[in-house]
Amino acid sequence: MNFKSRNVDDTYRLAKVIANTLNGGDIVLLNGDLGAGKTTFVKGIAKEMGIKENVTSPTFTLLKTYHGNKYNIVHVDAYRLSGDEFGELDDYLNDENVIFIEWSSMLTSKLINSALLIDIKYISKNQRMFTISATNAHYESYLSEIMKNV
Ligand code: ADP
Ligand code: MG
Repeated sequence: MNFKSRNVDDTYRLAKVIANTLNGGDIVLLNGDLGAGKTTFVKGIAKEMGIKENVTSPTFTLLKTYHGNKYNIVHVDAYRLSGDEFGELDDYLNDENVIFIEWSSMLTSKLINSALLIDIKYISKNQRMFTISATNAHYESYLSEIMKNV
């Protein structure tokens, strides 16, 4: 499905709907150029999941965990990684966590074979095109729910 965001608030609105659709153990892969809005989207997710801390780009720390009301957010930036360098990502896959990975295309871990896929394209200063897809039936069932609620 496609979602055209006209401003940051639109992106937060989409993030809110997706936050309420996801379950513990889910993985969301975010791809798109630098400045597309991947981290901004995760900020919106965090807000909805009851995280008070400011979510910042994990580029230099690679991975950050935030404790929400129901789930933890594990926020990964794979930009500086390659291949299976992030083998320990498996350690974070459990029912208490929802994992968000920026630049997942840099990874080869088989973890990323089952995920909700979000691609963000820059249109203009304030507009972005979100393309949301699924790798399998589990995540496909989310698409109609997201479409209905956004
Ligand atoms: P990325 O993590 O993809 O590199 P960021 O989220 O860090 O990107 O940066 C996106 C930038 O674009 C932010 O400064 C944000 O305020 C701005 N922006 C402008 N319009 C939008 C929009 N519609 N959705 C998301 N971000 C937007
Ligand atoms: Mg980022």
